[in-house]
Amino acid sequence: MSLHLKSAAELGRGIRAGEYSSEEVARHFLDRIDQGNDRLNAFVTVTAERALEDARRADAAIKAGEGGALTGVPLAHKDIFCTSKILTTCGSKMLSNFVSPYDATVVERLAAAGTVLLGKTNMDEFAMGSSNETSFYGPVRNPWDENRVPGGSSGGSAAAVAARLAPVATGTDTGGSIRQPAALTGLTGVKPTYGRVSRYGMIAFASSLDQGGVLAQSAEDAALLLEAIAGFDPRDSTSVDAPVPAYATQLDRPVKGLKVGIIREFFGEGLDPATGDAVQAALEVYRSLGAELVELSLPALPLSVPTYYVVAPAECSSNLSRFDGVRFGYRCEDPKDLLDLYTRSRGEGFGAEVKRRIMTGTYVLSAGYYDAYYLKAQKVRNLINADFKRAFTEVDVLLGPTCPTPAFGIGAKVDDPITMYLNDIYTIGANLAGLPALSAPCGLVDGLPVGLQVIGPHFAESRVLAVAHAYQRETDWHRRIPPAWA
Ligand code: GLN
Repeated sequence: MSLHLKSAAELGRGIRAGEYSSEEVARHFLDRIDQGNDRLNAFVTVTAERALEDARRADAAIKAGEGGALTGVPLAHKDIFCTSKILTTCGSKMLSNFVSPYDATVVERLAAAGTVLLGKTNMDEFAMGSSNETSFYGPVRNPWDENRVPGGSSGGSAAAVAARLAPVATGTDTGGSIRQPAALTGLTGVKPTYGRVSRYGMIAFASSLDQGGVLAQSAEDAALLLEAIAGFDPRDSTSVDAPVPAYATQLDRPVKGLKVGIIREFFGEGLDPATGDAVQAALEVYRSLGAELVELSLPALPLSVPTYYVVAPAECSSNLSRFDGVRFGYRCEDPKDLLDLYTRSRGEGFGAEVKRRIMTGTYVLSAGYYDAYYLKAQKVRNLINADFKRAFTEVDVLLGPTCPTPAFGIGAKVDDPITMYLNDIYTIGANLAGLPALSAPCGLVDGLPVGLQVIGPHFAESRVLAVAHAYQRETDWHRRIPPAWA
């Protein structure tokens, strides 16, 4: 079997068993990137030399009898994670010249696990988007249909793994940016509980919502990677000091007897019927495995999109104020004075969507509108939290669609922000409540993947992963590869 058809777990096992070296694996993926990246635009930076160095070090470790499950396994990082000596653009002109002096915790931990860095992936500018069309580096294409979007904002990571230019990649999810692109490209994408994965060195968008995670071929691979990146980090003030379970060894927990909640609000108007059918078919698989399906209502959940589009812009308007042309990043030519430096550096460095968010955020935080918008949104956020809390007294997990439709065409929604925002209608709730959630592929509609979403209570990543794994033992949707990239 060709190396790119193997999962990260399989590659790790093969390297340890001496079936092939990490260097051979790295060269194989670098060749695929070389041949495929022009078509997909998935990578902003390819780190070929670094990959070969990492691979040789991994091979030496294995020879010395050291190394673990991920030693020698290649991966790509979303270009939002700071990497020392390597460009970190965040998909923006503002950071098109930025080399961080340090590694993000996620980067550091995966390097310590012996992984091999292939490069940094394209993304929506500052992670604001659902289609990867807001990137300064141009749109990413979906390997299932290159005229369609891969989703966003972790679209480069999604396209890279879906086309097997990398076996696995990191992502971040503020309102759905791991789960939505995972759904649209046929991957398993996990957003852990808020506080589970350190945000240190992850460029901030909306700090109370941002969470790092992984885009993988299966729940098994996702579990392996998550285990490596999760855990307390004193450098992130919201990092939670709780032990990290060995996710990969807990995948076989049975779903028999599990109480599965079906959120009524997720199956109403707006859900594409064929997508809904695929999700229903997946629910039947759980029923046949002995899970008990319970329909329930989370009445505040339909308010999650408007709530998010007050809270997230408010936080981003504050976070992005650091990009002023003074300390790092883009600086305009020949500023007349300080104000000119600020306004032109920001005016020229940020794209349209980022500016829209900064303006919205500044408005909702302004003295006259704070109570009417920001404070109100925080109250609704509490209602959404309470809905989930109540649901989890009745059920063990919640299941539903990840996205209302399969991947849409490039250009189809760029001029209509509200329609674009509505794409995240099913994913945003878990961010507002800080819950762990994943998307796993559950079918193809006209040749395009659709995702099943699993949401769990806080810190129940093991359960969420096991629920997806049980499904992946019964079905093979997660093994499907875009025909043009097999
Ligand atoms: N699509 C959402 C937005 O544009 C979510 C992005 C994200 O999760 N980073 O804000």
